[in-house]
Amino acid sequence: MDFDLTTDQQMFYDMVRRFAEKELAANAVERAHADGYPWDVAEKFAEMGLLGITIAENRGGIGGSLTDAILAIQAVAEFCPRSADVVQAGNFGAIRTFAEYADDEQLARFLPDLLAGRAVMSVGMSEPDAGSSVTELKTMAVADGDDFLVNGSKVYGTNSAEADVFLIYLRFGPGTDGIGSALIEKGTPGFEIGPSYRYMNGEDWAPLYFQDCRIPKANILLGAGGFKRQISGFNIERLGNAARAVAVGRKAFIEACEHAKTRRQFGRDICEFQGLQWKFAEMHMRLEAAQLLLMRAVTKADSGLPSAQDTALAKLACNEAGFYAANEALQIMGAQGFSEDNIVQYCLRRTRGWMIAGGSSEILKNRIAEGIFERRFSQRPPRPQTTKDS
Ligand SMILES: Cc1cc2nc3c(=O)[nH]c(=O)nc-3n(C[C@H](O)[C@H](O)[C@H](O)COP(=O)(O)OP(=O)(O)OC[C@H]3O[C@@H](n4cnc5c(N)ncnc54)[C@H](O)[C@@H]3O)c2cc1C
Repeated sequence: MDFDLTTDQQMFYDMVRRFAEKELAANAVERAHADGYPWDVAEKFAEMGLLGITIAENRGGIGGSLTDAILAIQAVAEFCPRSADVVQAGNFGAIRTFAEYADDEQLARFLPDLLAGRAVMSVGMSEPDAGSSVTELKTMAVADGDDFLVNGSKVYGTNSAEADVFLIYLRFGPGTDGIGSALIEKGTPGFEIGPSYRYMNGEDWAPLYFQDCRIPKANILLGAGGFKRQISGFNIERLGNAARAVAVGRKAFIEACEHAKTRRQFGRDICEFQGLQWKFAEMHMRLEAAQLLLMRAVTKADSGLPSAQDTALAKLACNEAGFYAANEALQIMGAQGFSEDNIVQYCLRRTRGWMIAGGSSEILKNRIAEGIFERRFSQRPPRPQTTKDS
């Protein structure tokens, strides 16, 4: 498998990197601590064609490859982790599943504002009683004439406090086959966005409440039976999450390298201590290995959606390597790395969240084990045995 970049890809990567270094790096810490969504960055990225890279031209996007989008997100993340979230929202997040399955009218209604950096879409899968076991979601859509009435609630959505439109996973009937999704706009009667809460990574989320919220049929993205297709689209989101994790871990690694070259203790540069050299070697190895798994998943998916197994391996490796590197980098930088004016503590907080979001490390390991044994292992309790006497 060839992971070398083409000349065009290298030029594109260099262009985004130069921009990120020149325009974003200086305010990376400030942006990391700022409230709300970085709309100024979104507008700029829209002008540069960095939103909608993975969406086909005939669907209104840029028509680039998944590799291009990965290059863009990593080039930005290495200089300004918070700005990389904008590349995520514009290419890998709910927008990508939406663009994959939306009809022409839905695309025309929502895509222009999303790609112009004027609006952002949030995905509502998780519910108070349905986290890892997302297929237990209860938010119901019941047909009522030409419309649907939606009742239920969602929690923990990235960008849910700032989004204008939501891709909501809904139950149209029993079981996994009863799950589909709809597009629900902020301001729709019966849809209330609750107070904002803050994750430890600095992102805000808000609970979403639906009470007899009436939506037209035209807002249904995928009806009953759509769950598996939605999750296939969601694998793209997972790769964006993996790409940021490894890039943000690498950012912390680079900061720690620079620090270790100049910080002196006991009359020596601290990079001369073997105890620290081995930390660097371990971080480097894990980041490089994770990046290779990511590129393998992405390269194989360039002409379609990534496989569940490749995605699980890449996301697990990148999430764990990113967090490992950020944690070790912080340790190497001592109090300076732990201080809020330093980007490394932010890298640690960001990489930690991705080990939970979009499929926790444990759930990914379950998926990988299923691939190894080519068997599906139900996580649900065994059904009680019925005997002849009972
Ligand atoms: C930063 C961040 C962003 C998020 N963004 C979104 C978003 O945009 N949209 C959205 O809908 N949700 C979002 N979430 C929610 C996320 O999808 C859930 O947190 C995740 O699915 C885990 O669910 P839970 O937190 O309820 O944990 P639980 O499912 O309650 O799990 C608790 C623990 O048990 C483990 N566990 C559960 N089941 C098993 C099992 N079968 N085997 C082994 N271990 C198991 C889990 O790995 C975890 O460690 C986000 C979460 C975070 C942290």
